Amino acid sequence: MADGIKLIISGPSGAGKGTVIARLIERLEALSEAYYLSISMTTRYMREGETDGVSYYFTDKAKFEALLAQKGLLEHNVYNGEYYGTPAAPAEEAFAAGKIVLFDIDINGGRQIRERYPDAVTCFLIPPAFSQLEKRLRGRGTESEDKIRHRIDIARGEYAAAADYDYVIVNDTIDDAVEEILAVVMAERCRMCRRKPLLSI
Ligand code: 5GP
Repeated sequence: MADGIKLIISGPSGAGKGTVIARLIERLEALSEAYYLSISMTTRYMREGETDGVSYYFTDKAKFEALLAQKGLLEHNVYNGEYYGTPAAPAEEAFAAGKIVLFDIDINGGRQIRERYPDAVTCFLIPPAFSQLEKRLRGRGTESEDKIRHRIDIARGEYAAAADYDYVIVNDTIDDAVEEILAVVMAERCRMCRRKPLLSI
């Protein structure tokens, strides 16, 4: 079986996670790596440019709660008043196939996945300076001032809570951030716990 990795990428809203993950996927494809990007389910509204089933599975509260009750989610969280969760079945299938499984989820979700799978690797993505977050969030122009302020407050809490993450990835340029994540993948593959079978001679 290939050496699959459960890779959690968290970071405050506005850190550029979406862009970094999109470029990471291009690189993984170029490297012929088997990967799966977990598509989350959410009750939040669909932003312009998003597609149902690609960006997220957009759903309503009742359906989300029904899936949760059936234990169909690996983790879930309420963020900015909306539900977000990771569908269990496709992720479990990708683990079994030994793929690199990418999770773009918040710190709460990252913690829940790590409790469930202690071998999961956690990366916290940040911009070079905190002040850039606010600038990027306003630049999107898609949300009310209240929601933006709330996202910034959440980001402060996330910075404080990120200390138990394994790696900090700085999104100075997208390419540099992607190279740092690829370096993490390579280092994790070399860990004793993953390579121990090679020592039984
Ligand atoms: P956004 O509304 O900007 O797309 O996402 C808001 C936050 O929710 C981001 O930090 C994102 O990583 C997180 N998020 C997205 N999907 C999930 C999920 O399935 N579970 C959890 N816990 N967080 C998620």
